[in-house]
Amino acid sequence: ALMITDECINCDVCEPECPNEAIFLGPEIYEINPDKCTECVGHFPEPQCVQVCPVACIPLNPERVEDKETLYQKYLRLTAAA
Ligand code: SF4
Ligand code: SF4
Repeated sequence: ALMITDECINCDVCEPECPNEAIFLGPEIYEINPDKCTECVGHFPEPQCVQVCPVACIPLNPERVEDKETLYQKYLRLTAAA
């Protein structure tokens, strides 16, 4: 999963781009729910939020390092639940 750092300027452009609805406005800045972020695996070749973020504040979440297969399985679970 990816995460949003405190460099976020709350510009709001990433939230609608997320195919998994993983991005939400937290108490201070936008946040990513790691249980829903597939790093866009299953939907797009590149993380969409990273593509649009003007301040490049969306790195990998070091607490949720996942390989492509794990991310794909998460995608399958999320789409089955939808
Ligand atoms: Fe959503 Fe993709 Fe960004 Fe993860 S990488 S938060 S799935 S847009
Ligand atoms: Fe924050 Fe970047 Fe999302 Fe804008 S695009 S709300 S700066 S994380």
